[in-house]
Amino acid sequence: MSTDSVVKRHRVAVIGSGFGGLFACKHLKNADVDITLISKTSTHLFQPLLYQVATGILSVGEIAPATRMVLRKQKNVQVIMGDVHDIDLENNIVTSRLLNQDHQTPFDSLIVATGAQQSYFGNDHFATYAPGMKTIDDALELRARILGSFEEAELAPTQEMRDRFMTFVVVGAGPTGVELAGQIAELADRTLEGTFRNIDPRDARVILVEGADAVLKPMGPNLGGKAHRRLARMGVEIQLNAMVTDVDARGVTIKDADGTERRIESACKVWSAGVQASALGRQLAERSDGTEVDRAGRVIVEPDLTVKGHPNVFVVGDLMAVPGVPGQAQGAIQGGTYAAKAIKAGLEGETPEQRKPFKYFDKGSMATISRFSAVCQVGKLEFGGFIAWLAWLGLHLWYLVGFRSRFVTVFEWFVSFLGRHRGQMAATEQWVFARLALEAVNAGDVDARDAVRPFDGETSTGNGKSVANEPTTPSSDRRVG
Ligand SMILES: Cc1cc2nc3c(=O)[nH]c(=O)nc-3n(C[C@H](O)[C@H](O)[C@H](O)COP(=O)(O)OP(=O)(O)OC[C@H]3O[C@@H](n4cnc5c(N)ncnc54)[C@H](O)[C@@H]3O)c2cc1C
Repeated sequence: MSTDSVVKRHRVAVIGSGFGGLFACKHLKNADVDITLISKTSTHLFQPLLYQVATGILSVGEIAPATRMVLRKQKNVQVIMGDVHDIDLENNIVTSRLLNQDHQTPFDSLIVATGAQQSYFGNDHFATYAPGMKTIDDALELRARILGSFEEAELAPTQEMRDRFMTFVVVGAGPTGVELAGQIAELADRTLEGTFRNIDPRDARVILVEGADAVLKPMGPNLGGKAHRRLARMGVEIQLNAMVTDVDARGVTIKDADGTERRIESACKVWSAGVQASALGRQLAERSDGTEVDRAGRVIVEPDLTVKGHPNVFVVGDLMAVPGVPGQAQGAIQGGTYAAKAIKAGLEGETPEQRKPFKYFDKGSMATISRFSAVCQVGKLEFGGFIAWLAWLGLHLWYLVGFRSRFVTVFEWFVSFLGRHRGQMAATEQWVFARLALEAVNAGDVDARDAVRPFDGETSTGNGKSVANEPTTPSSDRRVG
């Protein structure tokens, strides 16, 4: 293909390789467009199964195939890695950064699907002691922290220390918190049973702390009640109306509904209490013609998922705020698909004014609690137990990308759920400390990036040419040029 013919094609930039970004690309497969998919992670991460990586059931590979492998056969997509820090809506250019090199991607249409991250409600320092679970790094760090706590308990010189190491606190009783609490309990009761000599892992306390008055509150009292009872039967201690007011290395401080404060001594804490949209949402809103963000930083999009004044710029997935659309995979898949269809229709002559508004089709929601037990809501139908668990199993397999991932996952589930073994019990010290070390590197305290830095502050364009030299100081709104 000549350079001229490439330039003439409609250029679509897609930011993010999650559900929204990937499904947008796939629906543009046969379109006469050139797509650049930019993501700061090299994989398409299936977040709903992260908790199984954190608890030793699945390996990273099963839930996070490399995006460029997934899209290998789709010749109209180029996948590039980079952290997007600037979206220029005047000149239609996205600027991303890989290590310290800026890269510019010009576009005619843009789909922003950068999702959300953990929110500590203004207490970001909690993250040091209570990681969330949004990324592969988070899941591996959690696995190392969970297994590491048992290791420390085995060697603890006093009962007080042993108790602290064997107390696991999960903050937030939404689907992620429920799944994690259930799996930590099963790990302790089944998988680790008989593997230590000084401690009995079955003595571990798993405490699920929730600020609201119910488990799985958005799923209603029936399913929330089922999940609550099942967890309680598994020995998980559920503390409702309990607000976490502080987190440190040795535990959490909790304020109860009556205002009293108390401590839970715990070495291993997990945060699954809130989400904050990607910072690109606020930047887009500020640069649009009056689009706003909601309290979680999600972009309040137009009915066609675009931002005001820019009908070629779509925001989809967890980053978009659309009434009635939950922050779930289905919302992202349907949003990404809608944006792709709108771009295709535009190529065939449809004007933005002619677009039909985005309509969300609610396929229901579900959460697993333990092996053989889940809760499921489809329209007005609510059910729990084994049937719900089978439905959960089938649906997750369906959406896992790649035959190999599905095959290996089924095998691992067979081994873990029917037996007591878990195949992914490796954990290293690096997994626990890497996040803190990276924060130091990013803050400039350590210049470790020199070890892997091939460039010196150049900016490149889509054709790979360097166009400018830049100082290497990171800055969120620095223009290049
Ligand atoms: C632990 C967990 C369990 C879940 N369980 C379920 C479930 O059971 N069912 C369900 O329906 N949903 C579930 N969800 C929610 C679901 O995963 C999300 O709704 C969905 O992933 C949102 O898709 P997205 O494409 O908007 O964002 P994401 O999937 O989060 O993808 C965002 C992408 O953007 C990239 N990115 C972010 N910032 C930048 C940047 N500045 N530059 C470049 N790239 C960037 C990221 O690397 C990533 O590739 C769960 C989520 C979590 C965290």
